[in-house]
Amino acid sequence: MATIVSNPSAAAARDAITPGPTPSGGGDWDVVVVGTGLGGATLGYALARAGHSVLFLEKGHADVLRDAVGADQLENPVARMAAAHWPDRMAARIDGRGSTPFPALGCGAGGSSLLYAAALERFARDDVESLPGQSHPTGGWPIAWAEMCRYYATAERLYRVAGTPDPLASGEGEALLQPPAASEADRQLMDLFRRAGLNPYRLHVGLGYKPGCVECGGRVCPNRCKSDAALICLEPAIRRHGAMLLSDSEVVSIEADHRRATGVVYTCRGASHRVRGRFVVLAAGAYRTPALLLRSRSLEWPDGLANGSDQVGRNLMFHANEWFAVWLRHRASTAGPRKTIGLRDLYRRDGMRLGSIQSTGLSAHAGNILTFLTGWCETRMPSWARTARPLLWVVSRVAQRVFGAATIFVMIVEDLGYPDNRVVLDPADPSRIVVEYEVREELRARASAARRLIRSTLRGLRVMPLQADVQLNLGHACGTCRAGDDPSSSVIDGSCKAHELDNLYIADASFMPTSGGTNPGLTIIANALRVADRIGKRLEAGIGVAARGATVGS
Ligand SMILES: Cc1cc2nc3c(=O)[nH]c(=O)nc-3n(C[C@H](O)[C@H](O)[C@H](O)COP(=O)(O)OP(=O)(O)OC[C@H]3O[C@@H](n4cnc5c(N)ncnc54)[C@H](O)[C@@H]3O)c2cc1C
Repeated sequence: MATIVSNPSAAAARDAITPGPTPSGGGDWDVVVVGTGLGGATLGYALARAGHSVLFLEKGHADVLRDAVGADQLENPVARMAAAHWPDRMAARIDGRGSTPFPALGCGAGGSSLLYAAALERFARDDVESLPGQSHPTGGWPIAWAEMCRYYATAERLYRVAGTPDPLASGEGEALLQPPAASEADRQLMDLFRRAGLNPYRLHVGLGYKPGCVECGGRVCPNRCKSDAALICLEPAIRRHGAMLLSDSEVVSIEADHRRATGVVYTCRGASHRVRGRFVVLAAGAYRTPALLLRSRSLEWPDGLANGSDQVGRNLMFHANEWFAVWLRHRASTAGPRKTIGLRDLYRRDGMRLGSIQSTGLSAHAGNILTFLTGWCETRMPSWARTARPLLWVVSRVAQRVFGAATIFVMIVEDLGYPDNRVVLDPADPSRIVVEYEVREELRARASAARRLIRSTLRGLRVMPLQADVQLNLGHACGTCRAGDDPSSSVIDGSCKAHELDNLYIADASFMPTSGGTNPGLTIIANALRVADRIGKRLEAGIGVAARGATVGS
């Protein structure tokens, strides 16, 4: 290990790092996992279940509030963290304009999946590889589609995904659970779409539909009915398979020699500790994984770990959300499941990469409209305009009257990677999320084509677009340590191992070479299971299995 030590006080600080826990038999952990979202918790669960010793390090709390509604509107970092929201504002420069919104991001055991809306959909084949007449923007992922499909099916079973097969896709459906009947309003909408010549299907969701289920998105599920990463993977990994979780533990650097990650340094309640793993897996999410690599500078790695090709943090992608409202001709009951409709008829149109359409399950009540407006204003208006925030409440009340009976849909338009769209490190405040992003004209053109196509395809229904320009989904960040075969244009290889290190892997949304035309969650889960198998094979082949029996700590 070689860390840059420029003065005696830095050396003293390094010496102040004390050892963290080891597996019960002593020695190194088989795998140290940084972050417990869909990527980290799923991968750690699979490896712990296979008998390997796994340590999870998580910045957020182990126990988060399950009854906090509207916590995304809170300013206080302590209160935000308690409700599993990322505590601090990010610094964003979008189209040259600076703003400081709160990122749509979870923080706590389970990561962003504590807050997500649990739409767990597969990508399309041409999201991953080139097909005749549809070349892939990167030439294709370094992962075969057939391999992804095998792991998609495992992911769907593990996360108890309910839905019906998309009539336009082949080979999916065998692992899906039968969902309960949709609300009367959604059944009527399904009929209307079918009569318009479209192919709606029951959206694939990780929801258990326990009594009282409100399909919660944007908050922690109070019923423990939503398939989040804590419920499905983290808790079983600890309780049944001997993994250990250190919560309230923020990883601040990865130590490495020229080939291997040798130590993981984290802070917990003001003290610094170091743990060691045969394998280190970064899963701190697409904002923080690249920041952690950039932070981990040393004599061997002066530009940041695994950043020899200057690709770490680049190719940041979101999705462009196209929101629209649809009204039924006659009032129908909205009791029962409402996040139920998926449509892929416009996924590709006229050679354009657009995306899937989904009912959001969101009703147009004033609280939801306020969240929507606040997000829009915070990324699109200068920070001084925040003083006008109270006025948004009035606007949302008026909007509620107009849209009250409408069903809100969204099209998830694919975003493409550009090297200049990226996560950067603020050396003065390395814990802060900082992004630079420019909406390219080609994305604007595709989003506006999507808006026109939605109107023309749903002609005959009462449809209204809810926006006039691109709206980035900051909750779908991905691609910032992209996987690829060419080390000069990617950070990790097809097995998600860093090109430049032998035992460092990335298993969160950062790996994605392209963002696809639908929600990222199922793809992150499937890939994490795939990477776990790769690491498991290496552990079994050479490095041996450590003794287990560790417990939860914080
Ligand atoms: C409101 C909302 C709704 C969404 N709805 C959907 C949906 O319906 N379907 C879908 O597919 N996707 C959805 N998404 C997106 C999806 O949740 C994310 O893409 C996915 O969860 C990301 O998983 P991840 O493993 O990459 O990272 P995350 O889940 O973000 O996990 C990263 C974890 O790492 C921790 N961490 C960060 N830095 C450190 C550090 N230095 N040390 C230790 N720990 C650290 C964080 O606290 C966090 O717990 C939604 C997102 C949001 C916010």
